[in-house]
Order: sequence, then C-alpha cells, then structure tokens
Amino acid sequence: MSTNFIRQIIEQDLERNQTSGRVATRFPPEPNGYLHIGHAKSICLNFGLARDFEGQCHLRFDDTNPAKEDTEYVDSIIDTVRWLGFDWGAHLYYASDYFEHCYRYAESLIERGLAYVDSLPFEKIREYRGTLTTPGTNSPYRDRSVIDNLTLFRAMREGQYQDGEHVLRLKIDMASANMNLRDPIIYRIRHVSHWRTGNKWCIYPMYDYAHAISDALESITHSICTLEFEDHRPLYNWVVEHTDVPSQPHQYEFSRLNMTYTMMSKRKLLDLVTQGHVSGWNDPRMPTLVGLRRRGYTPQSIRLFCERIGVSKADSLIDVTVLEDCLREDLNDNAPRRVAILKPVKLIIDNYPEGQSEVCTAPNHPHHPEWGHRELHFTRELFVERDDFMTEPVKGFFRLFPGAEVRLRYAYVIRCTSFDTDPTTGEVTVIHADYLPDTKSGTPGADSVKVKGNIHWLSSTEAVRAEIRLFDRLFKDPNPGALDDYQQALNHDSLIVLKDALIEPALLTAENRESFQFERNGYFCVDEVDSKTTSPVFNRAVTLRDSWNTTKGK
Ligand code: ATP
Ligand code: MG
Repeated sequence: MSTNFIRQIIEQDLERNQTSGRVATRFPPEPNGYLHIGHAKSICLNFGLARDFEGQCHLRFDDTNPAKEDTEYVDSIIDTVRWLGFDWGAHLYYASDYFEHCYRYAESLIERGLAYVDSLPFEKIREYRGTLTTPGTNSPYRDRSVIDNLTLFRAMREGQYQDGEHVLRLKIDMASANMNLRDPIIYRIRHVSHWRTGNKWCIYPMYDYAHAISDALESITHSICTLEFEDHRPLYNWVVEHTDVPSQPHQYEFSRLNMTYTMMSKRKLLDLVTQGHVSGWNDPRMPTLVGLRRRGYTPQSIRLFCERIGVSKADSLIDVTVLEDCLREDLNDNAPRRVAILKPVKLIIDNYPEGQSEVCTAPNHPHHPEWGHRELHFTRELFVERDDFMTEPVKGFFRLFPGAEVRLRYAYVIRCTSFDTDPTTGEVTVIHADYLPDTKSGTPGADSVKVKGNIHWLSSTEAVRAEIRLFDRLFKDPNPGALDDYQQALNHDSLIVLKDALIEPALLTAENRESFQFERNGYFCVDEVDSKTTSPVFNRAVTLRDSWNTTKGK
C-alpha cells in the first residue's frame, strides 16, 4: 500500500485524536450520468481509506438537481461501485433525505440575519457579483428584515412563486476576494418533480450548501473532493460553522484523473451516446466503468491502476497505456489461454492422411500447471491466421511462406509447399504444407528441427465460428477534452467487427465476461450484451504487450 498526502493527514489526525479515532469518508456521485474511470480514482481513494483505517465510507447520491437526474443512473452507480469491489454496508444515503434539515438550517440562518431572499433577476445577480478584479455590489434586497425574509422563504417553499422569481442567499461578503463568498445562492425555485421526493419540494438547495450539511449530518470526518472545489472550501467551512450541524467535517482536495485519448466530462460522454457515436454508455470504447467492464477490464485491474497513479495535488495527464498495462498484468496471471483465429485461412497438410486425427495437449496456463490442459485435435485440414502467411515474405518475416518451416503450436513442424488463389480476386484460399512426422511437441524429437516461427491453428473439424470485436482508441487526438470540437478528433475506425473468426470448442462454455488470453492475439472477454451460446461474441480488451516478440515466434 503506497502512501499519499491524504493518508498522512488522516494518520496525523488520528495521532492527535482530532476525530475521536474515527475515519468516515464518502463517495458522492451526482446521478446524472454513468461513472467513468475518473470516478474510480475517487472511489478507490475514499473506500480504500475507510478500509485501511477501519472506518467507513458512505455512498451518497448528490441528488440536488432534479432536472438532470435519473434512477437509471442510480442503479448503475450502485451496481458499478459494488462491481469494483467496495461495500458501504448500511451507509447508503441521498442528499434529498436531508432536504428538511437543509430547509430548517436555512430558516435559522435567516433568523440570525445570515441569509436573505433576493428578488433580483438572475442576470442582475450575476452582474452584481463583480469580477475577479472588481468587488461585487450589494443587492437592494440585501437588508430585508428577518420577518420579510422568513415570510418570503416560506412562501417560496409553498410554491407561491415562479422559477427564478426569488433565491435565498447567504449574507457573507460581496467584496470578498473569493467569489464563492459573495453572498452565494443556497436555494432556488424549481417547479420540477424529484425522482425521490416527488412534488414535495419546489425549492432545491444548491450543491455547496447541501453538500456541507450532508457531510456534517453523516459525521464525515474527511470530505475528499477534486481540486476545482479548493476555492469552495471557505464556503464549505462557513456553512459548517454557521449552522447548528452535529459535526465538523473537513474538506481536502486532490487532483482529478485526466487520461490521454480519453474524455471524462459526463456532459460530453452523454453527447457521444445521444449522437450515436457509440452504441451506448456501455460501449466498450467508452471510459465509463460499464464500458470498461464490457470491454474486459477487471475490477482488480482498475484498482491496481488507481493504486499505481497515486493521489496528489499536481495536475497530470496519465498515459492510457498505464491502464492497459494494469489489465495485462492482471490477465497475464489470471486468464486461461485459448486459441482463436481472427482472420482464418485454410491450411492443408497434404502428407497427413484424410480422416486421421490425433490429440495435442495445450496447457490452460503456462505458469499454472494445476489449471490443467485441454485437447486440440490435429487433422489434415486446419485453419491458421491469414496474417501468418505471405506469398512473398518481407525481410524479418519468419512465419508461413512457400519453403518456410514453422511450428504449429502443441503439434508438428510443417514445411509450406504451395498455395491456391481465387482466380478472380487473387486472394489466397488454401495454403499447402507437409508435416515433419518426428517433430511433435512433447516428444523426444520435437526439437530436432529448429524453426523461428511458432503459430497457432485450429482443426477444421472442431473450430467454431464466433464474432470477434477489435477496438482502437475512440479519439485520434491525445487530449480530446481540451479541443474546441472534440467531434473532429473522433476515430471512425475504432471498431472492427470480425464475423468469421474461429474459436476452439472449449470457449463455447465460457461465461459472460469471462476473460481469456487468445494466444498471440491479446486478451478477450465474452461480450456481456450480445454473446449467445449459439453465436458467441468476444471483445478484445487489450492486445498483448509483446506483439513484436510474437511476430518473431518467441
Ligand atoms: P462532471 O463534471 O463530468 O459532471 P463530476 O465531477 O461532477 O463530473 P460527480 O458525480 O459529481 O461528477 O463526481 C462524484 C465524485 O467523483 C466527486 O467527488 C468528484 O470529485 C469525483 N470525480 C469526478 N471526476 C473525477 C476525476 N476525473 N478524477 C477523480 N475524481 C473524480
Ligand atoms: Mg459534481
């Protein structure tokens, strides 16, 4: 377990008994989209701290903006945090559960002259706020009497006003150097039904206000958020100090995850979905956790990634290959090996008797002998990868071409003799070879003939057809989120569907999402949406790291 500055703060707090020995964190998603890999960083941090300090982490929905929220998102968030391997126990909360508290604290702020109803139109409020270099101007409504403010605020709650007619603002300081303290709005009128509270409310608290109160009501000790909230911290503290909340949480900020070739903004991800650039939130090319899961990412690989990138206050752009490497590391150890042929071409062993068949033994994992093996049947008619054959080899090509000798993995060395082509297209239709009888893998003579190429194959009698999907980056630009028009950077070749791929029969019993290494081709998983027993679909999660080495047959 690596340390970070937040961990150190907590250790100090515990040493000094700042929080009565307690550690309580929370992950507070807004249910207005699906979680993405950036959220995973926050989830692993918050739940990880709670786990390591024997505290608790709450899952709290920040559902203060009813217009954009949906139960579809809530369900997916719950499912995804669990899938990542975290548990909130009994601590599942909703900011909307605290609307009544928020309201009562607001009345009490009014009673103490610390909040007022402003009736300026929204544009005026913005204008009066001033700029970073000029102070703001007090609203003419700032000095309303307590009784007027209370009456108006209650009437707002009762629905006597239209959206935008009034707001409730804190009375802090219109000249503050921190814009967030220039009498921030804490309530606005929204005649919108809320997915949990229905039509009970037509005024809704603003995030900054509701968030501080929610943390305090749940006795959160360390409220951890991303750096863009650093300037909001004085407001957070102000709310905690000036309301009669039962605890005094503290906010700490860390830098958000940015990753190359990846866009994290939920609004832009929603655009990709609604404009049909991807098939949905769970498209395997999306950086959403449901997308990554469908692609073949495992919870372990994502947790490893979050551990590896660490937590700091420095802005950074993490290379997407760091994430890919974490998956490779996980699956290299944990995924059984299988054979699949992405683009098959027929190979006939002319000197092998028709109708004959013999068993070749392939280990399920080279480093886990206890996982056993499966049997592949060697026959006269086989399939190999089209890319493993060249009619005229380029320099450094050590696989099949007329005259070349290669090993068929777990079977014999063969010598390529000739090939047939389609007379109209010129495409190679059949490769011909002879096998060298004494060279079978696992027998004493296996190494008598030295070859540089070592290719995979399947028997035409047992290969099963499958659909295999290959993915490339969704964007051609390394930082699409920073572009004015990210649509220009879309990679229109990011999905390749191979409908005529072949797999070994053992893969027919694979379960949804189960991962495999398809030898020499990468790591694949069963597509959880489209795969059927009779027509399996596999996604390539990531290629093999050593594609250069496998070309040389090592
Ligand atoms: P967006 O701005 O795209 O809508 P958000 O930050 O508002 O995203 P929330 O649902 O509010 O999304 O996020 C929940 C938590 O996840 C917050 O604490 C937020 O700071 C954190 N989070 C969101 N994006 C990232 C990221 N890229 N890296 C780390 N943490 C993140
Ligand atoms: Mg947010």
